[in-house]
Amino acid sequence: MNLEHEKLKNKFGKSIIFQENLSKFSWFNLGGPAKIFFKPESTEQLKEFLKLINNSHKIVCLGAGSNTLIRDGGFNGVIIKLSPKFSFIKQLEENVLEVGAGTLDKTLSRYAIENSISNFEFLSCIPGSLGGTIRMNSGCYGNEISNILISINALDFRGNLIEIKRDDIQFNYRGSSLPEDLIFLSAKLQAKKGEKNSIKEKVEKYSKEKKESQPSQIKTCGSTFKNPKDKKAWELIKDSNCDLASFGKASISKKHCNFFVNEGGASSEDIERLIKFVREKVFEKHKVKLDLELKIIGEKL
Ligand SMILES: Cc1cc2nc3c(=O)[nH]c(=O)nc-3n(C[C@H](O)[C@H](O)[C@H](O)COP(=O)(O)OP(=O)(O)OC[C@H]3O[C@@H](n4cnc5c(N)ncnc54)[C@H](O)[C@@H]3O)c2cc1C
Repeated sequence: MNLEHEKLKNKFGKSIIFQENLSKFSWFNLGGPAKIFFKPESTEQLKEFLKLINNSHKIVCLGAGSNTLIRDGGFNGVIIKLSPKFSFIKQLEENVLEVGAGTLDKTLSRYAIENSISNFEFLSCIPGSLGGTIRMNSGCYGNEISNILISINALDFRGNLIEIKRDDIQFNYRGSSLPEDLIFLSAKLQAKKGEKNSIKEKVEKYSKEKKESQPSQIKTCGSTFKNPKDKKAWELIKDSNCDLASFGKASISKKHCNFFVNEGGASSEDIERLIKFVREKVFEKHKVKLDLELKIIGEKL
């Protein structure tokens, strides 16, 4: 252990791990180790850590890992993974919830059903955390998180606490103007009193539609590419005759060809080769450049 690591270990104890295997933190179940893995127990501890690190390492905050491919060589920097202390839901007012960024979207949606709160039905179909969902402006069935966002509490990478109001953010399809050097801690979300049974029915309808159109119980990070304007990525892939392609144990879901799959034993490199191949084929046939929805982090082996 070098001096810096020793200092960090003495200060943060079990919240810090060196060379932590990251594959268990991605839905692809792929990826090498993180040089420094930090699991803060509180905002204060995270703030202290960031001030100490003082931007001397690359930093990535991982949520539920349902949209992130981690490369085989791991991450040569700091991975921050919010501990369960950042998973909470508080009803501040009748129409406002404060939700920790580590809270799973599905947990939030379940809470909303139990408490007859509308607006959160679509989150039942997204397997991410609130933090990742804000970063991605995730959504489905005509809704997205920016529609119900009021404000965000965050720390920047230097450890400064900030509050950002919805009106100061430009959201777009699967992205926003939010700076990269932010760790979201919690958000205030717009709730609406609803009728329990109709909320439940809506959630069941969405879940059924999802089950019919998308694969489940597989190692995937959902949609690989964003839909280009007025087009569907999956249709372009199918029409370019590359939906049966595979590299090693990386293949494309038979049910939804924008979902790439680790069949078990794939490497991240296999997934990236598949991505490159599909992009080339779609470009050859349609002259459309597909943009990644998936986030890729880390180093190649
Ligand atoms: C089966 C399946 C179905 C899916 N269906 C949908 C869908 O219908 N609609 C949709 O939009 N997406 C869908 N996704 C993609 C994914 O679930 C969403 O993008 C989700 O919101 C990502 O959240 P996460 O916590 O897993 O993010 P991660 O993959 O952990 O991270 C994604 C990005 O967010 C950043 N991030 C995470 N937490 C924080 C934080 N606290 N502060 C700052 N940045 C943070 C990461 O650095 C990274 O850049 C699906 C994925 C799967 C596997």
